Amino acid sequence: MFYQSTRSSRRVSDTAAVLEGIAPDGGLYIDPALGSRPFDWQGCLSLTPLAMAEKILSHLLPGFDRMGELVRRAYEGKFESADLTPLVKVGEDFVLELFHGPTAAFKDVALSMLPQLVTAARVQEGVGDRIVILTATSGDTGKAALEGFHDVEGTGILVFFPDAGVSPVQKAQMVTQAGSNVKVCAVRGNFDDCQTGVKRAFAALSGDALPAGCRLSSANSINIGRLAPQVVYYFIAYAELLRRGEIALGERVDYVVPTGNFGDILAGYFAKLLGLPVGQLVCASNANRVLTDFLETGVYDKRRSFLKTASPSMDILVSSNLERLLFLASGGDTALVADCMGRLSSEGVYRFPEEAMERIREDFAAGCCDEARCLETIGQVWREQGYLCDTHTAVAMAVAEDWKLRRPEARKTVVLSTASPYKFPAAVLKAIGGDLEGDEFAQMERLAEISGIPIPRGLRGLKERSVLHRDVIDRDGIVDYVRAQLG
Ligand SMILES: *Cc1c(COP(=O)(O)O)cnc(C)c1O
Repeated sequence: MFYQSTRSSRRVSDTAAVLEGIAPDGGLYIDPALGSRPFDWQGCLSLTPLAMAEKILSHLLPGFDRMGELVRRAYEGKFESADLTPLVKVGEDFVLELFHGPTAAFKDVALSMLPQLVTAARVQEGVGDRIVILTATSGDTGKAALEGFHDVEGTGILVFFPDAGVSPVQKAQMVTQAGSNVKVCAVRGNFDDCQTGVKRAFAALSGDALPAGCRLSSANSINIGRLAPQVVYYFIAYAELLRRGEIALGERVDYVVPTGNFGDILAGYFAKLLGLPVGQLVCASNANRVLTDFLETGVYDKRRSFLKTASPSMDILVSSNLERLLFLASGGDTALVADCMGRLSSEGVYRFPEEAMERIREDFAAGCCDEARCLETIGQVWREQGYLCDTHTAVAMAVAEDWKLRRPEARKTVVLSTASPYKFPAAVLKAIGGDLEGDEFAQMERLAEISGIPIPRGLRGLKERSVLHRDVIDRDGIVDYVRAQLG
């Protein structure tokens, strides 16, 4: 088995794909035979979450030795709940809570596993170099990557965040990060400045310019090692519905997914290709509705204003992982995918052929939710169901309501929940009519008093932890900063 670039005939092993992250031609690695290689999906459903993860990941990444050990190292004792991603009944639907990892972010599911895969791939590929992860973050990814990579042998991690662009809680999570191989640096600028600086560092420090003994890699990238672990929780949810007698084996279940970069929902499509009876995958967007428009019209047009919303992790105009779906829906037409991606970067827009769009619509639906409705939904679900959700989950819940009215066939519905309400205390308090006084830490306490839900482990006591990272640099200083850290 091999992984192939979405933009050319370049083929590499799965271990090489994980180490490279992104193909040299700019494409993303994908298994072109996914779905035609036989997989015992039913055999998964009676397993524990960790055994299920081992079985699924061994199928997706068969070149890795000792997957069971990698899975245990990634997850054992690190998540608040033994079922990793608990399924909660809310009204007639089910919410799959993905945020019980060490940093209370959904990104933990993938970023707990990625370091294990990177280090295993490094050993198996015989790479002696230290792998240094460069990350620009708007908040959550940075902390989850730090938590995953800190003190992992053979790796280092450097995180850049916009000094005034992250929430006080997110900042406290990052600057208190311990670890012998971690460095966190604030940048005077916004997230785009951080991302541009990191991209420049990758370009400036490649080939001969890279100090001997290290290689750069990215936790922002659309690494297949970050996507594969996300397939598992679609199975966990299905198995749990079966166990509770909510569905019969083979019955299709719809999944509604709060979407930004299209990784989470694409993992659901992978689960479907492996045989899991997934009905429709419903792509939920906030007011940045570029994917809703694409699924409706077949035209992907990023030439629009970027809206800052209360669900910031979904504020995205270029959804990178969509490229993998284009590859699959076009029957592996790399020339077509390369052409679309070229147009997107030069003209900001492309049109995908209608017959391929029809194939996409057999599996995917889409909807969006504006700011007012997002907050209304949090309030309504809290009052009527006693369930407290964050802003990202609320977007998906609103879209799920719309979808249930127009879907051709009634099915059980799972809404993926990507953040703890404690990550966005101000918006959540406002939505349920709570008092907004004080800083975010005070707001978290108030939310706990009102809801009775304990503050997640990773967010408790943050204010008292000692600050270990105080560097603040100008946006033009990122490349030099990286060079100095590598040297
Ligand atoms: C990253 C993120 C998303 C979007 O997931 P994608 O895989 O990028 O589509 C949604 N919600 C939260 C809270 C996130 O952190």
